[in-house]
Order: sequence, then structure tokens, then C-alpha cells
Amino acid sequence: MEKVSIVIPVYNEEESIPVLYKDIKKVMDSIGREYEVIFVDDGSKDRSFSVLNDIHTSDNKVKVISFRRNFGQTAAMAAGFDYAEGDIIITMDADLQNDPEDIPKLLDAIKDADIVSGWRKNRKDKFLTRRLPSIFANWLISKVTGVYLHDYGCTLKAYRKEVVKSIKLYGEMHRFIPAVASWIGVSIKEVETKHHPRRFGKSKYGISRTVRVILDLITVKFLQSFSTRPIHAFGTAGLLFGGTGFLISLYLAIEKLIFGHDIGGRPLLLLGVLLIILGVQFIIMGLLGEMLARVYHESQNKPIYTVKKILK
Ligand code: UDP
Ligand code: MG
Repeated sequence: MEKVSIVIPVYNEEESIPVLYKDIKKVMDSIGREYEVIFVDDGSKDRSFSVLNDIHTSDNKVKVISFRRNFGQTAAMAAGFDYAEGDIIITMDADLQNDPEDIPKLLDAIKDADIVSGWRKNRKDKFLTRRLPSIFANWLISKVTGVYLHDYGCTLKAYRKEVVKSIKLYGEMHRFIPAVASWIGVSIKEVETKHHPRRFGKSKYGISRTVRVILDLITVKFLQSFSTRPIHAFGTAGLLFGGTGFLISLYLAIEKLIFGHDIGGRPLLLLGVLLIILGVQFIIMGLLGEMLARVYHESQNKPIYTVKKILK
């Protein structure tokens, strides 16, 4: 039977951890699969690490990776993936919003898939700041990437190990794993999962995450389409803008040279041209920056986190 690794990012979740651990143990023991639980303490400032340390001491199936500071949920997941020994890797939140009782369902679905994504059909979060932006984000991500999922943001997902081991994660990128992975030809399934309101502590995110997710989506789309041939992206835009600029100049030159009109007083035209150039410059610089970041990380094999301690 394939071994299961459960990867859980933790940031200030001291009250939830013992309950979560108990629930996971109950479910995993009942299905009798070989497993490990990897808690990644993402620089918690509360007693999370000491709670995890105690659990680790009493149960050798529980491993703990502790970051030097808060690197974010994506980095925490990446660390879990790097250290996971299982053939199937399940990710979930530490705050009891995902339910370990759904694990058997995921394991069942992944028998004939590479990725199984949870869908929080009855999501228990605030409507205006969380569920509404998420409906929009899921629609947009699905459209742009061509991989249609109801709930990209659901952490409860299962992956075959090869899938996550072959993908490098940046930014808020963990939610895009299904989209990125689908380009290398994996099969993806969606299953409905439970969702509970947060019991302890508070959410680490607000509406501002939507902006970051959209920026990451632009990056993902760019890398999907143009990372191996950036000239197609930059060249097309360059030709388009250059061509338009040429036509405008030609028109103005004819006005001036043939009809003798004065073309100095066209403020709106100047403003328009200026804004377009600025916009293009910004987008291109952002994309170049993204590419440089990848060269930087991958050429030096620099991880996107630093580990303080690992309890195996
Ligand atoms: N988390 C993390 N690092 C962070 C923020 C969050 O490891 O910088 C963890 C957090 O402890 C939880 C999961 O990521 O286990 C999801 O966070 P949260 O519940 O705050 O997000 P929400 O459910 O509100 O989207
Ligand atoms: Mg939560």
C-alpha cells in the first residue's frame, strides 16, 4: 500500500493543533494506511512549536519542520513537499476548517487521478470579504488557465508525489499547482469536502490576498504561454505599439508637411501615448523580474525558505 504524507502549514494555531492531531490519528488508524504527518511551523509566535514538539515526542509518525520566521503558507507547503516521504501527499489547514474525515474520500479518488482537489461547497467564511472574491477568482483562474475547478483556494487536496516534487512554488502559488501541473499532463479530479468555521484564533488573510492572487495568475499565465519564448510576448506587444506609434507619427507628419497644420498642441494624444508606454513598461518589467527570480532561485538551487530545526 502506498504511504500517505499529510502536510500541514501552521502559523499561530496552538489551540487547534491537539484537536487536529487527534482527529487525523483517529481517521488514519481506522483506515490502516501507513502515514506520516508533517507539521510546518511557519514562524509561529505563540506556543505552536512547543505543542508540536510534545506531539512529536510521543508519536514518531509526526514530524515537525520549524521555520526561522514567517515565510507564508506556500513556502510552508513547499518545505512539507520537500521532506515528505509518502507516495501520496495530502495538504490541509491547521485551523480545523478542513475535516480529516474527508481524507479517505481523497485517497479513494486519487486511485485513478494524479491530483484530487477539495471543493468547499458549503464554505463557512464571510461572504463579502472571502467567498465573493473567491467566486470571482475561481472563475478567472479557470478561464485563464483552462483548468476548471470550483475551489482553487481549498487547501485540502491530494497529490501523487511526482506531481509536487516536479513543481517549484513561489508567492501565493500553492493554489495554482493543479493549473501548473495540468500542463505537464496530469489528471485532476474534484471532490466535495466539508468545511467548518474557524474555532480558535483568527484568519491570517483578508481581502488583500485577492490582489496577490491575481498578480500570481498573470505570472502563471505568462510562464505557461511564453516562458520558453519571451520574444513572442514582448515582440508582439512591441510590434503592435511600435506600429501604432509609426502610424500616428506618419499621420502627424502628413498633417504637418503636406497640409501645413500645427501639430504641437495635442495634449490628449501625448497623455494617451505616455500612459500606454508606462503600462507596457511596468508589465514587462514585472515579468522580467519574475523570470530573473526564477533564474536566481533555480540556478543556485536556493530554497524559498530556511529551516531552523527538523524533528524526524
Ligand atoms: N498559514 C501559514 N502561514 C501564513 C499564513 C497561514 O502557515 O503565513 C497557515 C494557517 O496556520 C492555516 C492555513 O495556513 O493552517 C490557512 O490559513 P487561514 O486559516 O488563516 O486562511 P483562511 O482559512 O482564512 O483562508
Ligand atoms: Mg482557515
